[in-house]
Amino acid sequence: MDERALTEFFSTLDRAFFLNGPYKALADCDAPLPIGYEQTISQPSLVLEMTRLLSPEKDSRVLEIGTGSGFQTALLAEFSARVYTVERVSALARKAEKRLTQLGYDNIVFLIADGSAGWQEYAPFDRIIVTAAAGKKPLALIGQLAPSGRMIVPVGPPSVQDLLLITRDERGTLSERSLGQVRFVEMVGEYGWNDSR
Ligand code: SAH
Repeated sequence: MDERALTEFFSTLDRAFFLNGPYKALADCDAPLPIGYEQTISQPSLVLEMTRLLSPEKDSRVLEIGTGSGFQTALLAEFSARVYTVERVSALARKAEKRLTQLGYDNIVFLIADGSAGWQEYAPFDRIIVTAAAGKKPLALIGQLAPSGRMIVPVGPPSVQDLLLITRDERGTLSERSLGQVRFVEMVGEYGWNDSR
């Protein structure tokens, strides 16, 4: 992807637009902030870094698990062909959809559901990004990654997770490497924390 274009676009994206009430005033802080329903918008530097590492291409079909505020979704929609985004909290999904429609994006498909097992109907995906902590490696999601695909997922306990970059080469072989430690809210569902504790 064009990293300069990404950085430029990122600097024009108004994070306050994705926040509610009093939190709008804190939008410029490089920190996670509450978005309601016990969820948070990630810190901007991490959103930028994850997008850079996911490295979507213009023709990529991207699956995002955890729409949340829609802030990360906007970056993905700007730099890929189509984004399939899944959120389990319907109020968050609706708000995010409203915001992203207002920004003019018409290449995002929204689903209100448990996304921990992916979105089989539209699989495989060229890129998969998970913005909630998986309790164990989400095998169903990895199974929906296309050849030459890249996937980013935080895996580990609620306190701290390993941010994994999982890639599949043209022949289908998987590799993974750790990008460091992060802290995301828990992914709920089949590959989340509630059934792997
Ligand atoms: N990228 C978002 C991050 C939101 S926090 C942002 O920057 O705003 C993670 C989100 O994942 C929360 O909105 C939470 O409700 C959602 N989530 C948790 N488990 C999920 C699951 N199994 N399927 C879909 N969404 C899930």
